[in-house]
Amino acid sequence: MKTLIKNVTVLTVNKDNEIISNADVVIDGQIIAYAGPKKQWQEEFSQVIEGQGNMVMPGFVNAHCHAAMTLFRSYADDLPLMEWLEKKIFPTESRLQGEDVYWGTMLAIAEMLKSGTTTFADMYFFMDDVARAVEESGIRAVLSRGLTSTGNDGGEEGLRENEEFVKNWHGKADGRITAMLGPHAPYTCSVSFLQKVLAVREKLDVPLQIHLAETHDEVEQIQAQYGVSPVKHLKNAGLLESPVLAAHCVHLSTEDMEILQEYDVRIAHNPGSNLKLGSGIAPVPELLQRGVTVGLGTDGAASNNNLDMLEEMRLAALLHKGACLDATVISAEEALAMATRESARAVFLPKTGMISPGKKADLLLIDLQKVHLTPRHNPASLLVYAAQPSDIKMVMVDGKILCRDGELLTMDEEKIIYHAEKRAKHLLAGI
Ligand SMILES: [Zn+2]
Repeated sequence: MKTLIKNVTVLTVNKDNEIISNADVVIDGQIIAYAGPKKQWQEEFSQVIEGQGNMVMPGFVNAHCHAAMTLFRSYADDLPLMEWLEKKIFPTESRLQGEDVYWGTMLAIAEMLKSGTTTFADMYFFMDDVARAVEESGIRAVLSRGLTSTGNDGGEEGLRENEEFVKNWHGKADGRITAMLGPHAPYTCSVSFLQKVLAVREKLDVPLQIHLAETHDEVEQIQAQYGVSPVKHLKNAGLLESPVLAAHCVHLSTEDMEILQEYDVRIAHNPGSNLKLGSGIAPVPELLQRGVTVGLGTDGAASNNNLDMLEEMRLAALLHKGACLDATVISAEEALAMATRESARAVFLPKTGMISPGKKADLLLIDLQKVHLTPRHNPASLLVYAAQPSDIKMVMVDGKILCRDGELLTMDEEKIIYHAEKRAKHLLAGI
């Protein structure tokens, strides 16, 4: 299957942030075969898309999410993190069943595809059901089972499940699913449990995903317990020797940032969730200056409350300007790179997140012929500061069109809304 998208503007989001006008893009199977000046093509294409007035860009990579938490959207708002987790989220999550997670994830994937996300990194439970939703929908995902040592068995069962999950699903769904191990956070995993996770990781050779330095309370707790910061604690536990995706990293000392830089820890910045839970503002401009890889995530829909990466990108660009009293920090180009290329690096999928020959064909076609996108001086600026999900004309993952003019082609939206609503009501009944 060979597709030609012709007469289009290409926002490559490569290292030079190159923009190619009057371009053609050719997709051969699952791969971008050509992205450059338009040509007289002699060969036959199975599909030709007229791209006049449109722009091709990489799909968004949501570097941190708990997809099935869509079921808790609007259930518990305006609470601090620990109270929100302990009184509202953990008790409800303990009632979850596989079917709940399946429909919650389907709802999340439908929302993500409709707003241009082509890959998401997830940490949750019943990961077989999450993987099933990923496989059916056609989206790409990096999946880990959330692990804590706080339960009766010290986390053994969860770790076994995560190990099985990696063995069963890593590289499956035509390579669209990759797996990680998901120790939840320094405050929910004992050191001895982290050692067990590391021993399993050695065998499986997959990255780790963890929440890190999310709140001030966490920093105080770890400091009181171990006498060091959460980042240094993970370093001392030997965790940072492995490839790590760390979500949040809000409260960091200079030494913490040096450690993150030295160990090439990948960071998922979640500005919406950090603001909503009153957790604080991550020092992203300084991390970027140090060359740390910072991607962008929405976190779960219970703390955001949507999974819209356009909004997250805009928030990231605006938030740090306000916090630093400096309009030059986090440019539109940087915010766009964080949501695509850098997020792809953060979730260890460097073959996505960019429009370039040889990369995976995970891409969006944006309709620029809109009043709020006129005039068109700077495409990156238009996307970050003015675009809306309804401007996304087409979403392609792994060379396959999954959403066209806002309509999902592999998913039944009405059915998903019906089941997700029903599951959410049942889950919260009597609480
Ligand atoms: Zn999270």
